[in-house]
Amino acid sequence: MGDDRNAAVEATELLRTLIRNGCVNTGDPASGHEARSVDALEDFFAGSGLAVERHESLPGRMSLVARIEGRDPSAPRLMLMGHTDVVPANPSRWQRDPFGGELVDGIVWGRGAIDMLNLTATMAVAMRRLARSGFRPRGTLIYLAVADEEAGGVHGAGYLTEHRPEAVAADYVVTESGGVPIPTPSGPVLPAAVAEKGGNSRRLVVSGTPGHGSRPLRTDNALVTAAEVVRRVAAYRPRARILSEWRGYVEALGLSPELTGALTDPDRVYDTALSMEPLSLARSAHACTHTTFSPNVVRGGVKINVIPDRVEIDVDIRALPGVTPDEVDAMLAEALGDLAPRVEIERLRSQMGSRSSLDTPLGDAIRRVAGALVPGSRVVPTMTSGGTDAKYFRWRGITAYGFGLHSPRIPATEYPLMFHGHDERVDVESLRLSAEMWEALCRDFLG
Ligand SMILES: [Zn+2]
Repeated sequence: MGDDRNAAVEATELLRTLIRNGCVNTGDPASGHEARSVDALEDFFAGSGLAVERHESLPGRMSLVARIEGRDPSAPRLMLMGHTDVVPANPSRWQRDPFGGELVDGIVWGRGAIDMLNLTATMAVAMRRLARSGFRPRGTLIYLAVADEEAGGVHGAGYLTEHRPEAVAADYVVTESGGVPIPTPSGPVLPAAVAEKGGNSRRLVVSGTPGHGSRPLRTDNALVTAAEVVRRVAAYRPRARILSEWRGYVEALGLSPELTGALTDPDRVYDTALSMEPLSLARSAHACTHTTFSPNVVRGGVKINVIPDRVEIDVDIRALPGVTPDEVDAMLAEALGDLAPRVEIERLRSQMGSRSSLDTPLGDAIRRVAGALVPGSRVVPTMTSGGTDAKYFRWRGITAYGFGLHSPRIPATEYPLMFHGHDERVDVESLRLSAEMWEALCRDFLG
């Protein structure tokens, strides 16, 4: 038990350091400054015998790789990957300083406490403990603390997989997120993220004819047309598709047979989600069964007395796995209907979704290790509606999962609010569970 407490203390202190480093990624390539946390991790690993490399994509956009070389080159290699950047926080809306890393009553507060500095820290703790214990696995173990996940990973996982493939070569990857225990009548369900949707961003450019704002009759006002474009895109509903991950997840929740049936029926899931509670499950039901369209940014108009001739609408589109960028554009054309000829569509980002099977030796090891640490639990494969760095590996045919462990102290319903929200926090018991889980998983899987 003494050892377990030490793992929790080590993870807590490292997490607080990473929070205080405030590697805030605004999306500006000059933000992030992840080199600060790479320095902290290099200090943390010092003297453990781990070989550490630093990789810089742009000034300050640093990622760190640490490895324990396997003794059998043919054995599968496992990578634990955590990002070091976080999204911005508005301190006036928090109960505590988002970059203070305060520890209060067994809870660490701060931006990144669950997304995902908690896992980045606990993975590092497991890595150092394994190295110090003289762990010599069959397959190589790699730890990657990566930059830029919060802006899509171009300057982090994207850069490394493209330009430094030898540094991040692995057969299996584990990263965020999952493992928040969902209470069900038959014991806690631990979601393992095995799939994610494809991020597609489109800019819709609506054109009109400029004129004097004092004479609006029968003019061609791009903003008025854009309002109807926004309405149509928001109202658009492609046909639902029930993937095996969604079906399995819903069936594991132990809901009533009626609700389970409705949420797994492509003809009923949308209307069910419109009226059901809780809202968090309703939003998941919609997002996990549809390609979604959310018009989120609009720019247009130049002056109060000028009828605008150009309006841009940026739409955040999340495509179900298997849906191609061309199919996304076809859906947009369908949504626009007779307005399609008035709208020019620019592709800002076109990505495919990604999936891995959990029926692998690593999936089996996760089930064994999580089952031992959380008695009575079941690991259930799920899809996430957001994006993670796992996609860069799945696109290359590598198996990648999102997982972690959390105690029941913070209820599962709080987590969706904390990701990129106010009052992000994690309890020390969750840090202990994750640190122990990573260590046990490496020993089990890599032997
Ligand atoms: Zn994250």
